[in-house]
Amino acid sequence: MITDGHNHTKHFSVDAGQTIEELISAARAAGCGRIGITEHYEVDYPDDGLDWTFDLQEYNKVFSSWRELAAPDLELLMGIEFGYQSHVAAEIDRIASLIPFDVVLLSVHLFRGKDFYVDRECYKIPKKDLHKEYIGVMAEMCERCNNYDVAAHYDYINRYTDNLNNFVLYEDCPDEFDRLFEALISKDKALEINTKSIQKHKEKGFVRTLPDPAILNRYREMGGKLICLGSDSHFPGTFGVCFNEAVEYLKSLGFKEAVYFKEHKPYFEGL
Ligand SMILES: [Zn+2]
Ligand SMILES: [Zn+2]
Repeated sequence: MITDGHNHTKHFSVDAGQTIEELISAARAAGCGRIGITEHYEVDYPDDGLDWTFDLQEYNKVFSSWRELAAPDLELLMGIEFGYQSHVAAEIDRIASLIPFDVVLLSVHLFRGKDFYVDRECYKIPKKDLHKEYIGVMAEMCERCNNYDVAAHYDYINRYTDNLNNFVLYEDCPDEFDRLFEALISKDKALEINTKSIQKHKEKGFVRTLPDPAILNRYREMGGKLICLGSDSHFPGTFGVCFNEAVEYLKSLGFKEAVYFKEHKPYFEGL
């Protein structure tokens, strides 16, 4: 199995429920030789009683012992997943340079400053308008931040919708997608295919489950070469979910390689 570049543990991600030992054994059981651990870090997150940050120096120290636990057959990439808001771009860049991360993911987990897991008002907005605004924020994030490697789960906006047609399509907002891709390509950053999104679409019975081919084809047409995959696992039993399906799908669209990041450098793996 190719690198799963996006995973969380309960030791540093407040919403995760798996230990590093559980994650390591799941990766080994799946025959995976390399995983990214990308713990949540939200700068100036709206108060929900939880601490969405962690001590970076402690993480750096503990990570060395995790690498030993996983060696020699499993390589761990030290990562972080930042939640973007317009006013925290500079702070993300600053924090991302404090310890020697292998990989930095940028995500948009809020809509108009609200967590849509808790506040689902955004789903009253017509689908195209919702996607246009969300992808527009992702484009801004990738334009304004610089110390990152990957734009994660562009389709996260639909994670909690009840509308089974709320699938993110290129045609919803081509200008915003083009801006996003232009930023990623000009800075040599990667686009993530989040396989948990596929699994969630399936679980809910969405009309469509796999990423819109028009999105991936347009990314490639504009010169995009860096696609990475992540299962975004938080709990035991979710590591590598829908990975094979996503790989087969990418191959069917003509993609031949995926990337992972080590010391912020992209490495290619055949699909
Ligand atoms: Zn996320
Ligand atoms: Zn995540």
